[in-house]
Amino acid sequence: MKEKLRQIFAGRQGMDELSKLLFWLGIALFTLALVCGGALGSLLLPLALMAVVLAFVRAFSRNLPLREAENLLLLRWIDKKKHAWAAFRDRFANRREYRYFKCPSCGRWLRVPRRKGKIHINCRCGYTLYRRT
Ligand SMILES: [Zn+2]
Repeated sequence: MKEKLRQIFAGRQGMDELSKLLFWLGIALFTLALVCGGALGSLLLPLALMAVVLAFVRAFSRNLPLREAENLLLLRWIDKKKHAWAAFRDRFANRREYRYFKCPSCGRWLRVPRRKGKIHINCRCGYTLYRRT
């Protein structure tokens, strides 16, 4: 029995982060479909099934490089969201001492001290803003 299981899982990566996410997303959608019922339920049920099936297809796939690349995309996306959240918390914590402006040209956040009147703010990209602080 143990040997048979080992043969089945040889060369496969099993549940990585993306597979786990898909699996739990499927379970959540399934629960939601049962709770909602009706038209929405019948719409969510196939989605839930697809997510769970996809999670297992990924777990048993032998195309390891592709599965790893997909998983890396998810991990990078999560990392980006974590950084964005940390930056937001930082801006919120310092909101009494600094004003933050987003550069309209490159999208970078610019931090300037408060209560300095109307000032020119130079972004690293070369764009200059004229704002009241
Ligand atoms: Zn800029």
